[in-house]
Amino acid sequence: MKESLWSLFSAGIFLFVMIFNHFKQLEKFQGENENPKFHGYKGRINIRQAPVNPTNVSEKFVSAIVDATGVDKILDYNDPTTPIGAFTQWQLYQKPYGQREGSSTAFLSPDILTPDGLGENERKLRVFYYSTVLRILFEGRRAVGVELLKEGKMLKVYARKKVIISAGINSPQLLMFSGIGPVRELQQAGIPIVFNNPNVGKNVTNHTLNTAIFSMNQRDMADLQGDPFALYTGGAFLPHPFSRMNGRRSVQLIGTVSEGNLIIVVIFLQPRSRGTIRIQNNDPLKIVLADEGFLDNPFDMETIKAIFRMYIKPMAMKLSTIDSAYQLLNPTIDTIDNDEALEEYIKENFGHNHHQQGFLRMAPFSRGGVVDNQGRVHGVDHLIVADASIIPFSVDGNTSAAAYLIGYTVAKNLMQEE
Ligand SMILES: Cc1cc2nc3c(=O)[nH]c(=O)nc-3n(C[C@H](O)[C@H](O)[C@H](O)COP(=O)(O)OP(=O)(O)OC[C@H]3O[C@@H](n4cnc5c(N)ncnc54)[C@H](O)[C@@H]3O)c2cc1C
Repeated sequence: MKESLWSLFSAGIFLFVMIFNHFKQLEKFQGENENPKFHGYKGRINIRQAPVNPTNVSEKFVSAIVDATGVDKILDYNDPTTPIGAFTQWQLYQKPYGQREGSSTAFLSPDILTPDGLGENERKLRVFYYSTVLRILFEGRRAVGVELLKEGKMLKVYARKKVIISAGINSPQLLMFSGIGPVRELQQAGIPIVFNNPNVGKNVTNHTLNTAIFSMNQRDMADLQGDPFALYTGGAFLPHPFSRMNGRRSVQLIGTVSEGNLIIVVIFLQPRSRGTIRIQNNDPLKIVLADEGFLDNPFDMETIKAIFRMYIKPMAMKLSTIDSAYQLLNPTIDTIDNDEALEEYIKENFGHNHHQQGFLRMAPFSRGGVVDNQGRVHGVDHLIVADASIIPFSVDGNTSAAAYLIGYTVAKNLMQEE
């Protein structure tokens, strides 16, 4: 690897630049469905298709979805030719024996990083532990480094080339404390303006989450123990209930078993509601004010109701004919059939996930953007954002792979610039 020529400082994903070669293949797929066209096998991130043997619950759940919605039963939802369908096995960030895999286990393992935070084998890498970046340092409009708090001490660290921010949900806060954000908000907090961008912290997008609870056949509990790390038992990606032929996935169903019940997690992947992230004052250690704007756009409520009416109810009816021990308990069929009661159920039952994205959106400035198509922050120089905050539209699945891909792409582009 041509070691990085940049001095890079950021909160998280900048490490991807340093370990670029290892990232050429993102994942190491382990599953019965070996699909070399769409999966890597030599990368550092382990993906496990689980459970190894589909459970009875998942077989029944999947049959019911297929019968009720007309989608296919599929084996690999990450094969772009089969994005929609129902499946008995999930693809999980797990090592072969079920341990959780993540960017730190995959990319900051002992062969890459010493316990002191230095790169192994002369890799140009330095990780500051117990450190919180407070702001980006500028000379004029050029980012030159960061100020950070490390174990009670303030440090300034300078970049020879570029500064890359990847603080996830905190990235807007870092920009705002550095003078990039809505002018009024920054002025109120007494923060000197570097670039007035009203789009910073807007457009917060998150998938919605509800549940449907079923009784289940207690004899089906036994084979769940076969793979205790499998997490889920069956699932589906479905099209939008109002536009079922457009081929895009809009709904994610996740089967789980808890306290003797089958719980189907219902996720709407294409919400139109948008939230905001704002700072409270000029204290960089103060948590931001985050409003995810759930259900602000009435289209989202209409869609979630349609998901219950058009997918969950018919699926429940099929499931009970496959095995009468499986009955929809909550919401009841009566609730689903009553618009007002269903709306109330959805609000009361509303859950939270951590798929926040888009609050430093990749788009032209005039169209709500904060970064350009290379992740470069509008209005300033030498500052890049590389995390889920720049995702321009709602990801149609879980979000970490998108965050990894953003880190990879930014790294690749920077390497090509050299
Ligand atoms: C409990 C949980 C479970 C999840 N499960 C899944 C899953 O199974 N599959 C999936 O695809 N996605 C999952 N997600 C979502 C996924 O983790 C996120 O989409 C993804 O991590 C976003 O990546 P990111 O780089 O944008 O931010 P992050 O991963 O949050 O990285 C930001 C990093 O910056 C650090 N940081 C923040 N502020 C500062 C600062 N001021 N100074 C220094 N460091 C700072 C943070 O500590 C963090 O390490 C889950 C999220 C949560 C919270």
